Amino acid sequence: MADTTLIRAGRLVDVLAGDVKRAQVISVRGQRIESIEPDGGTYGERARVIDLSQFTVLPGLIDCHAHLIGELETGHGYAALLQRSGAQEALSGVRNARDTLMAGFTSVRDIGTFRAFVDVALRDAIDRGDVLGPRMMCAGAYVTCSGGGGDLTGLPPDVDAIVPRDLRFGVANSADEVRNAVRRILHGGADFIKVIATGAVLTEGTVPGAPEFSEEELRAAVEEAALYKKHVAAHAHGAEGIRRAVRAGARSIEHGSLMDDEAISLMEDAGAYLVADVWNGDWIAQQGHANGWSAEVLRKNDETTEAQRHGFAKCVDAGVKIAFGTDSGVYPHAMAAKQFAYMVKFGMTPMQAVQSATVVAADLMGWRDRVGAIEPGLFADVIAVAGDPLEDVDVLTDVGFVMKGGEIVKGA
Ligand SMILES: [Zn+2]
Repeated sequence: MADTTLIRAGRLVDVLAGDVKRAQVISVRGQRIESIEPDGGTYGERARVIDLSQFTVLPGLIDCHAHLIGELETGHGYAALLQRSGAQEALSGVRNARDTLMAGFTSVRDIGTFRAFVDVALRDAIDRGDVLGPRMMCAGAYVTCSGGGGDLTGLPPDVDAIVPRDLRFGVANSADEVRNAVRRILHGGADFIKVIATGAVLTEGTVPGAPEFSEEELRAAVEEAALYKKHVAAHAHGAEGIRRAVRAGARSIEHGSLMDDEAISLMEDAGAYLVADVWNGDWIAQQGHANGWSAEVLRKNDETTEAQRHGFAKCVDAGVKIAFGTDSGVYPHAMAAKQFAYMVKFGMTPMQAVQSATVVAADLMGWRDRVGAIEPGLFADVIAVAGDPLEDVDVLTDVGFVMKGGEIVKGA
C-alpha cells in the first residue's frame, strides 16, 4: 500500500454519468486510478491522504487545439519566425507547457508548429520527465498548400526562396505531394495530421473563406494517415472547405467559423468533431486594437468571431460532437479555461462544457484508454477547484490542485 494515494473529494464531477457525486475517495496507485468509493472516514495507515473535501474534483482538462511551441501571437503575420531559431521555439515551448499544465490541462492535442517536429521533441522531453508539461499528441508540422494558411507567407520573393525547409516541411500542392507530406510527417514522429483546408485569420494574404485543398487532396491525407492508424484534423473556416474536409473523412473540423447548415448536417452525419475556439476572437480584438496588430488580421478576426459563435450554438442544438479547443498561443497559455464561459454562453450546459474538455476530447484523440475521466485504470490526471464549476464554469480558470499520472504538480 506504500504507493497508494487517497484523494478525498468533497464533490467529484463524474463526466461519464454527467452528474456530481459527494464525499468520494479516489484511490491512486502508481500512475493510475485504482478505485472510486464513498468516503467512509477511515483510511489505510500507510496510504497518503490528500484532503480535497472542501473542493470540487474533476478529471484533468484537455485542450484539443493547443500550440505549445513558440512565442505569443503578435498579429503581424509569420515572417518574424525567421528571426527565431528552432532552439528558441523549443524553449518557449517549455514555458508554455508548464503554464498549460499548471492551469489544469493535463493533456493537449498540439495542433501544429511552423518549425517542424519541435512539438515532438517537447512531447518526448515531457514523457521522459525532463520537462514539466501535459501529455501531448503532436501534429509535427502543417500540411498546407504553397502560400496557404500553414505556410510562411508575407515575404518578398527573393527572401521567400531561402526559407529553411523545417519552416515549410508540410507544403504540398497535389494529392501525391499530400501523401508524401503525410508520410514524412508521421515518420518524423507526429501522432496525427493537421491539414489546412482553408485560409487562416492570422496568416497574411490568405482568405479564411477560401478552400485551399481539393476534396481529392484532403482525401489523400485521410487515406494516407489511416494507413498509420492516425487521424486528420482539418483547419477550416469557410463552409466549402468544411464540407470538403468532412466528406474526405477528417475526424475534426478546427475553427469552423463560416459554417452553413449543410456543413453542420454533414458533420453531424459523419460524426466529425467540431473544435471551435470561441473565446480568442475577443482577445485578438482587444490586444489587436491596443497593440496595433495588422489591419488584415483584425478584419478577418471580425469576419469570423461572431459568425463562429453563431455556428457553434447551432452545432450544440444539432448535437454535433464538440471537443474543447482554444488556439492557445494566440493568447497566453495559462488562460485556456476562459473559453468555458463562452461555450456556456453560446448554448452548452456547464456539464457539457466540462465533458467537451474531458471525455469528449479524449474520444476525439482516441485516448479514452488513458485519460478523459476519473475511472479505474485510467491515468490519475486529477484537478480540483474551489467552488462549483457546474454553477459557475468560470471557476475552472483558477485550478488549485493538479495531479498528472499520480504525481502532484500543483497544490496540496
Ligand atoms: Zn491553431
